[in-house]
This record gives sequence, C-alpha cells and structure tokens, in this order.
Amino acid sequence: MGVSQTQGQPNIITTTVDWVFSWARRSSLWWLQFGLACCAIEMISSAMPRFDLAERFGMLYRASPRQADLMIVAGTVTKKMAPVVRQLYDQMADPKWVISMGSCANVGGPFDTYAVVQGVDQVIPVDIYVPGCPPVPEALYYGVLELQNRVIRYERLKERYGLEAAEAYRQEQREAARSALGPRS
Ligand code: SF4
Repeated sequence: MGVSQTQGQPNIITTTVDWVFSWARRSSLWWLQFGLACCAIEMISSAMPRFDLAERFGMLYRASPRQADLMIVAGTVTKKMAPVVRQLYDQMADPKWVISMGSCANVGGPFDTYAVVQGVDQVIPVDIYVPGCPPVPEALYYGVLELQNRVIRYERLKERYGLEAAEAYRQEQREAARSALGPRS
C-alpha cells in the first residue's frame, strides 16, 4: 500500500485488490460457537460488551461450522468429545484456523487422566495457543491479534508463491508454537 501526494489535491491511497482481500479475510474471522468447559465462560465474556471482541475485530460467532473459519477450543477436551471436535473442524470452511484457549485445551491442564486428551493438537492442527487457567479476555485478544498477523502473512505468501508455500509457512508456525509448550505426557 502507498500514498500518492499531489500539491493542492487530496491524497490518494494506492493498493492492490489482493491486499484488500487479505485485509478483509484477516478482519472478518467468523468463529464457531463452541465451548467445552470453564474457559468458555471467559471466551463468552470476551465477546460481550465489556470486551467486545466480536465487534472490534469484525468477528461473528456462527452456530454452523460451514459458516465459520475459526475454531476457538475453550475448555477440557475429553476423549469422548474429541471425534466431535474433529468432525466440526472438518466441516469448517477453508482456509480455517484454530486457537487453543487455556491449559486444558493446550496440554490437558490439571486432568492427566485416562479420559482427557492431553492437548487438542492431538486431534486437530492448532495455530495459536493461549495460556492460562482460565486465560483472561485480554489474553484471548492477544491470541486473536497474533492470528490476524498470521492470516495476513499466509494470504500474502499464497498470492506470491502459491498455496504450497503458504501451507509450509503455516505448518512451520504451528510446529514452533507446539514445541514452545514443552514436553507433555
Ligand atoms: S484451563 Fe482451567 S479454566 Fe480452562 S477449562 Fe481447564 S480447568 Fe477450566
């Protein structure tokens, strides 16, 4: 994007249609209305007027996975629930993104038991991990901002070098985020 300045005339902003599409995609993530445990309360409060995550970021929560491109996994993922999480993810529109919110979704939290998945990334790919038990709405904000940067970069790579390069970048970022969590059982 650039700015053309002409004396005595209003400034003109120049950009490309691709840039506009990238910006629009980053700024209109629609997330699947989906909560699993106590973290979901914080996620819900993030969308309420006090924090207003949805309005500020152009985000809408949708009841159908087919209308969503973002899944925020907020809460404990039990082994019984895992296939449902996977099915919902598979039904979402591409390109789709995942934020894992809270210690339970990240690594199983305090529930190192036979019934709990020790990290939702064992079921679906995760782009952003938000730490905390539960994370406060501001932490989720930060995660969304990070994801927006990721979406912009992904879109630009896709435009310039193709889908394969963009997916390679995404995979690299996912692995880096996952390894930052440290070892787990
Ligand atoms: S991370 Fe903490 S607040 Fe979130 S679902 Fe697990 S126990 Fe509940």
